[in-house]
This record gives sequence, structure tokens and C-alpha cells, in this order.
Amino acid sequence: MQRRELNVAETHTQTNLLDFNRPELETYFAEKGEKSFRATQLLKWIYHEGVYDFEQMTNFSKALRAKLAQEAGVTLPECIEEHPSADGTVKWLLRVDSGNAIETVYIPETDRATLCVSSQVGCTLNCTFCSTATQGFNRNLSTAEIVGQILFATDRIGRSENRGEHVITNIVLMGMGEPLMNLDNVIRAIDVMTEDYAFGISKRKITLSTSGVVPALERMRELTDVSLAVSLHAPNDELRNELVPINKKYPIKQLMAACRRYVEGKPRRRVTFEYVMLAGVNDKPEHAEQLIRLLRTVPAKLNLIPFNPYPGTPYTCSTEQTMEYFRNRITEAGIVTIIRKTRGNDVDAACGQLVGNIKDRTRRSQRLGQVAIEIEEGRL
Ligand code: SAH
Repeated sequence: MQRRELNVAETHTQTNLLDFNRPELETYFAEKGEKSFRATQLLKWIYHEGVYDFEQMTNFSKALRAKLAQEAGVTLPECIEEHPSADGTVKWLLRVDSGNAIETVYIPETDRATLCVSSQVGCTLNCTFCSTATQGFNRNLSTAEIVGQILFATDRIGRSENRGEHVITNIVLMGMGEPLMNLDNVIRAIDVMTEDYAFGISKRKITLSTSGVVPALERMRELTDVSLAVSLHAPNDELRNELVPINKKYPIKQLMAACRRYVEGKPRRRVTFEYVMLAGVNDKPEHAEQLIRLLRTVPAKLNLIPFNPYPGTPYTCSTEQTMEYFRNRITEAGIVTIIRKTRGNDVDAACGQLVGNIKDRTRRSQRLGQVAIEIEEGRL
């Protein structure tokens, strides 16, 4: 049976201008015989004004508007579902093509608002305690799809009166996927996040979280210096091999050396280590001692993450008492340690609970075509 494809895929064959950082946009305009300042004008329309229709870009000539409309577009991911949590957190399921969706989470606090952004549809890494792993891997997100999540959220939440100033103050690349497995698109998206004519967010307020893809981490160091978070989760190779299988390829010693290099020569910078608290697995007093010895080798901060359960997981979260013991013991040893507040878990928006893949959600139907039809008819 012939299945009808959705328009979304068709629009992707056009140039999506969200795919470009400023230098690339300058080249794009130069190739059209236009001055490079057109790039900053375009960026301001898109990111500061939220104007995506070339016809409304009044400082462009009619001819340029027509040319742009013919070959390019500004395409944002489309919202399939919105889940507001009782604590103010909002999770969105966003469609990126006819068969795939991702999740993005908005986390407001009194002094800032953080957006948790996805970098892949699914993930290849198979960490045993993460629900994204259960859905397998589908594909990398494009730069436009990463940037589009921030733009979508900005539109949804509202822009501030001061056009250049964005309501979202912090970005964490901690959603679905492993950002270092999609480094080029992620780096270009970071360019747009930090670009003054786009989101203008300082690199200190952007955090990339990785499970430790060491060669990509070395490359990242040459390309950017946003804040780094590392999903450690175990203080020795034996246990980490089990929980974070990529450790078999890049063991802790190599990972720590790469972390040291990342902050080398930057005296006040620290790597944030993430440690999910799994009852009876990695939360014994001896693990705290091993962790202290390990973290003394790198300028480090430690985030203890309460494990967030999801259907089918064999793990449970450590008790409050155990988490407090860890925090107190490791703080005492001179390492800044916090227990991360769980946000949005009433709508499954917390760390490790993101599963956006439409294919996965409709395994019942077993047919992608069926999903496409359901989307089209507004049932998904
Ligand atoms: N792949 C990257 C980005 C994901 S970030 C990385 O591994 O860092 C999401 C953070 O939440 C990671 O530290 C991840 O290990 C952690 N996490 C995954 N599943 C979790 C769960 N069920 N409960 C709490 N934290 C979890």
C-alpha cells in the first residue's frame, strides 16, 4: 500500500535557515551577492523578533524576500503534546519528522529559567538506568532541530520586552541523546545559542552533559568551552562498565584525563560530575570513599541525582538518608556536592525519563505508516 508522506519531510528538503550559524549565514548571503550584514538582520528577525515569514522582513528588498521564499524557510519543530507539571516545569513532545519526536523540558526557577534540550532521537549508549536507552536509536538531530527547540520554547513562554533579552537564561544539553555523538550539529547549535544576534546566552550558562565519549571530548575542547558535565555514576571501572557501557571503550582513567585537559589553564572552572543514586548498587560507603579519591584528581563539583523510576526498570532510588550521607561525607572531603532537585517527575520530565520517539510510543501499531496517518488526523 502506498503511504502518503507528511509535508514536514518535504519542507526539510528546503534550506532551513535555523541550520546556520552567523558565519555560515554571511556566506549564504554573499553567494547571493548580498552584503554580510544581511545575516545579522536575518538573525534579529528570527531570534529577537520571532518573525519567520520573509514577507515581514521589511528591511529586505522585495527581490531578496522572493529569492529567500523560493529556496529557504525557517522551520520549527511542531508541538504534539504539552505537559505542565505542578512545579512549573513544562515538558513538550515535539515532532521533528513524520516518524520521530523528541522531548524538551522547561525548568523555571526564581533566578533563572533552564531549557533541557535533546540532541538525538533516542540514544546509542544503553545506560542501564536510563529510559531513553529503552527506545533505541533513530537518528541525530540537525542543528535546526536543536536550535528549533529553544526557539519553540521562547515563542511559547513569551519574549521579554527587551527584544534582545531572552527569557530562557540557561541551556542544558541533557535531554535525549548523547551530544558528543552528534558533535558537529551540537557545536553549530551552541554557536547560535551564544550568538548575540540570536540567543546571546553566555557559554558559562550552557552545559553539555556527556557519558564520556573521550575522543569527541578532546575535539569539543578545541571547538568550544561551554560548561561540562560528565555522567560518572560509578567510582570504579567494574561497576561503570555495567551501568554506563561506553566505559568499556573509554575507561575512567582516560575520561578523567580528558576532563582535566578540558579545564586546564582555566583556574576557576570545574567539571560537574553527575552520579545517579541507585539503591544497593552504587550507594555504599565504600563507593563514597572511592568517589572522593577519584574526584580529587580533577577540579570537580558533584551532583547527586535521585534516580527517577520509569516502567520496567529494575532500580530504585537510594534512601534520603543515604543520599545525605554521601553529600555530607563528600562535602567534608572538600568537594562541592549537591543533591539535584527532581523537577517535573509528575509528568515524566525528570532526568532519564525522556522518551519522545513516536515509533516507540506506538509499538502497538508496529507500523510507521499508521503513525503518520495518526499524526495527520490529529490523534497523536
Ligand atoms: N547522554 C548524555 C546526556 C543525557 S543527560 C549523558 O549521559 O550525560 C541526562 C542525565 O540524567 C545523565 O547524567 C543521565 O545519566 C541521567 N539519568 C539517566 N537516567 C536517569 C534516571 N532514570 N534517573 C536519574 N538520572 C538519570
